Amino acid sequence: MTDASNRDQLAIQQLVLLNRIALLAVQDLGALQPMLQRIVLELQQEFGWEFVACVSIDKISNEFVCRAVCSSIPTQIHVGYRRELGSGVVGECALTGQTIDIDDTRGHPNFVETLDDTLSELCVPVIHNNEVLAVLNAESMRTGTFRGQRRLLETIAAQIAGAIYTANLYSHLQETHQQLQKAYRTLENISQQDGLTGIANRRCFDTWIEEAFNTATQDGAPVSLLLIDIDNFKAYNDGYGHLGGDICLKQVAELLAYVLADTDARLARYGGEEFAVILPNRDLREAYELAERIRLSIEARAFEHQHCERKRVTLSIGVASCQPSANEDPQPLISLADQALYEAKRKGRNRVEVYSLVK
Ligand code: GH3
Ligand code: MG
Ligand code: MG
Repeated sequence: MTDASNRDQLAIQQLVLLNRIALLAVQDLGALQPMLQRIVLELQQEFGWEFVACVSIDKISNEFVCRAVCSSIPTQIHVGYRRELGSGVVGECALTGQTIDIDDTRGHPNFVETLDDTLSELCVPVIHNNEVLAVLNAESMRTGTFRGQRRLLETIAAQIAGAIYTANLYSHLQETHQQLQKAYRTLENISQQDGLTGIANRRCFDTWIEEAFNTATQDGAPVSLLLIDIDNFKAYNDGYGHLGGDICLKQVAELLAYVLADTDARLARYGGEEFAVILPNRDLREAYELAERIRLSIEARAFEHQHCERKRVTLSIGVASCQPSANEDPQPLISLADQALYEAKRKGRNRVEVYSLVK
């Protein structure tokens, strides 16, 4: 073959390689590591170099990190291997953004041997918008291996720069998205929770009661509601201070949650010193029995309340029940439970009163 046809042949080979790399670079922008791994493998197979790697720059830790490596001989470099920017030939290239082309590593001042008997090395920066994103690094056990290859590797680096930039952006976006999702879930959680007692809040109650009505309508089942109010709580606050009152509220909420733990009842803080319990699938008698159990549990727990007649914290509970029909408004059931509660207060507190919504 003539020199001219040799040159043509080489140029075609290089164009084919560039084309393959370009295709690999845009194949899957979301998965940077596999993309880089395919590219270093392609380079190693094409040129028969002993070692090819691609490292990316971690600006936060001021290090470079190996993202892909192919080596035909033993090496201590692996994916995840990291080293300080500026350290070694790769670190120097990462820091300065300058290509480093070493014909003979013997006597090179910044050469760090990570591969036995490396004699020549080529490091090319991958730059996007004047920022070094990565370094392509090839090593060989012969001297002068990379003579004449520098331009080609620089072209390849330029070709993959955009892909690395986009992949980094994509992964950053994914991280941000995950953080936002987490923050959103926390916010959602907080807005459903009562800040003092940690149980569900009124907003949550409003959703639950609607849900309970819809399910009960479908199942043809009853729904019951308990409205629970701490007796003489103003006197408790006056006697023990507002902070003491807060502690009492927490203790009562804890005990209610404990008593209801094994049931499908839904407990919420209804407001102030009032709690609500939604009881799906329970009629008035069952709801009354549960309300009595709650009242007795608090009585038995005997939280001290020196500023009332009984000298302990007690509860009054209003119970109401109904069999909802399609699109029925829960408000009348709530009003009924409230009337029952009022009746319990009127009759002397520390008691349960019941009302049924008869249609
Ligand atoms: P009754 O037996 O009739 O229910 O009387 P009561 O004193 O419990 O009822 P009243 O409605 O007169 O007072 C309720 C008190 O609850 C007044 C209010 O300051 C207090 N309270 C409401 N929310 C909180 C809270 O979050 N923390 C504290 N410490 N007190 C609260
Ligand atoms: Mg009250
Ligand atoms: Mg009260």
